[in-house]
Formats: sequence, structure tokens, C-alpha cells
Amino acid sequence: MQRIYMDANATTPLLPAVFEAMRPFWIEHFGNASSIHQQGQYARAAVDHARESIAKTFHCRASEIVFTSGGTESDNLAIFGVLNQPRPAGAGPFHLITTSVEHHAILHAAQSIAKQGVEVTFLPCDARGIVDPGPLAAAIRPNTKLVSIMLANNETGVIQPIAPLASITHAAGALFHTDAVQGAGKLAMDLSAHGDLKDVDLLSISGHKMYAPQGTGILFVRRSVRLAPLFHGGSHERQRRAGTENVAGIVALGKAFELAHQWLTEDAPTDGPTHLAHLRDRLEQGILAQIEECGINGAGAPRVSNTTNIYFDHVEAEALVIALDLKGLSISGGSACQSGATEPSHVLTSMGLSPARARASVRLSLSRLTTEAEIDTALTLIPAAVAHLRELSPTYNKPAALASA
Ligand code: PLP
Repeated sequence: MQRIYMDANATTPLLPAVFEAMRPFWIEHFGNASSIHQQGQYARAAVDHARESIAKTFHCRASEIVFTSGGTESDNLAIFGVLNQPRPAGAGPFHLITTSVEHHAILHAAQSIAKQGVEVTFLPCDARGIVDPGPLAAAIRPNTKLVSIMLANNETGVIQPIAPLASITHAAGALFHTDAVQGAGKLAMDLSAHGDLKDVDLLSISGHKMYAPQGTGILFVRRSVRLAPLFHGGSHERQRRAGTENVAGIVALGKAFELAHQWLTEDAPTDGPTHLAHLRDRLEQGILAQIEECGINGAGAPRVSNTTNIYFDHVEAEALVIALDLKGLSISGGSACQSGATEPSHVLTSMGLSPARARASVRLSLSRLTTEAEIDTALTLIPAAVAHLRELSPTYNKPAALASA
């Protein structure tokens, strides 16, 4: 059975060109970038080259790019790195503002730092999943040190209005961090003084959401920001991230950024962001046309072009994920399994969905490799699986003939 992969927000396939770029750095060019001999210098040059080409796509300085092990580390480095700074004697605690729809890498870091005495505010979102600049302005206090709001949501794809949110934050004298893990490779990002992200001070990226390998990531740290390191050891990454660099992974990130930049800026009719949005929209329209009592979560908001989150009333998301998996289609549920119990998604319940509807929601996230034919197959598999599960559902209003059978 040829499998169909529609779970790119969990991890993207590695692009062959990315693999080819990093392969020699595992075998021929295995040097440690801190060594002074030739092998070391070759590795150092490769790291420098990747850093410079990534900085070019962000319109920032190469020295503002810190390589990490992924999105979770970048998010933690931003939160703890900014808030674990000494306070003048007698000054009260710092204040952190974030939102109720963040990834757990931010939510759990915020909960952890709250235990250390930092004050934390979680902003709500509206029914579309958007965090309004108004409540942010109202929540900022004199001791607010950091605001962290994600660029694109991993479950719904909803894009936050980062420019006004960051501008309000700066006007109040605080720093702004965005978890851009689900925006990378999907949205152009301009961190220059004239760019839409000019007020962003820190920005997290994960390699494996943009066709590079798992275990690679970036934290952009604007030059003016002081950051306390998470790890203590060598002086790598200008004292901001100790530990021998993952040279092959960094080379892969450089290549993935180069390819993403081409893909975003040279929109070819057969393979570009517009095409991906067309595939996603066709998938959504096909599902809505064929299946009753379903809908798109976050439909009214701007969303990244590859993601859709759909509820199917009277269906357990987990059962649908398993049923489709058996048919060769990989998707994901909107719920997290915590201590054996399936918790409804905190993102969807923050948007006002009932726990039952949140538990009936699944995420389909396409990749650059998704084809029209795969959409066609999904549009036959999903209605059949939903219909089958609804036949078994005690709450579904069955047609009379079926109900009495
Ligand atoms: N932030 C967001 C929005 C994510 O979607 C993810 C991963 O799903 C992460 C952070 C964590 O990234 P990583 O898996 O690289 O640690």
C-alpha cells in the first residue's frame, strides 16, 4: 500500500537536496568546528556559510543566529534566557505575557518559570484563534520583561498579527519573542529595520518542520538582547549555547532555508505556496461538500497554506486517525494523551469549542510533496471512514432504516 502523508506539522519529510548537502559532513568532513586543524576549519567554514545564508533570508546579521537542537530548546532559551537575568536589589519579579494557544514548549516553560517567582499572564484568543492586540496592551505592566506569542499555530495554522503585537510590546519597553516554528518555510520573514518583523527580538525555528532533519533549530536573538545561556560549557555560539555544533544538521538547515526562500519567492504554478493553498482548499471544500455536521476550525482567520483542522461531530478523532492509518493515510488528532486520558486540545477549547467538538477534531497538514492524486484519495477515504464511525456512534442521528436495522 502506497502511504499518503498529511502530517507535515508533526514533521516534514527530508528533502533529498537537503540530505545530499549534509551527507559529506557525516563522512568525509567530520571535523569539530572548534578544532584549529584543516578538518576543523572546513567544518567551521560550513557552519559560517550556513549562518550567513540563513541570515540573508531573514535580513538580519549572521551573529544574530544561534543554532540549537530544535524548537523546544529555542523556546526555552528565549524564555529562560531573557527572564533568568539578575534583578536590581529591591526590584519585584519580572512579568511574562504569553497566550493560551501556544505550543507546550512555551506553555510548560512559562509554567515552570512561574514557579521561580516570575509573574505570568496567559492572554486568551477569539473564536477564530486570534490574539487581539487590545488585551495585550491592557496586560502590559511596568515589570513586563517579555511577551511571547506564536506566529502560526501548530494545530490550526492560524497566523497571529505579529507586527502590531510586537510594536505594542516595544512601545512599552518589553522584549518580543515569537515561536515561528510553524511559519518557517511557509511564510517569508523579514527581521530588518523595515520588515514586518522589525519589532521581533527573538524568534524560534525548528529544522524538522521545514524539510531539514529532526534535532536542528535556530533562535534568532537581536543584537541588543542580553541572554543567559541554558547550558554551561564551551563558548560556542558567542556564549549563548554551549556544546559542539551539529555541523551536518547546520549545513542541512542552511540548505533548507535556501530551498524555502526559492520556493517562497519563485512561485511556480505547479509547485509553490499558491499551489499548496489550492490543494488544501480543495481538500477542505471536498470534505465540506461530502460530509454533514463538520466544519473548519479557525476558518475565519488567516492561516498558513498547508494546514486544516476539521471537526466531525459524533466521531472520536482518535478513532478516525486510526481508521485512516489502516487505510494508508497519516493524519493527526487535535488531542494529547495525558496520563492515559485523552485531553481535548487546549488550542481548540481556548477558541471556544466544546470538549466534545475538540475531541472530534483532526489536523491534516500537507507538505510540498503532497500531490493532487493524494488529495483525491483522501477525499474518498475520509468520507468513508467518517460514515463508518458515525454508524457506530450512539449520538449520531441515523437514518430510520439504519437505526432500526
Ligand atoms: N513550537 C511549535 C509551534 C511546534 O509546532 C513545535 C513542534 O511541534 C515546537 C515548538 C517544538 O519543536 P521541536 O519538535 O523542534 O522541539
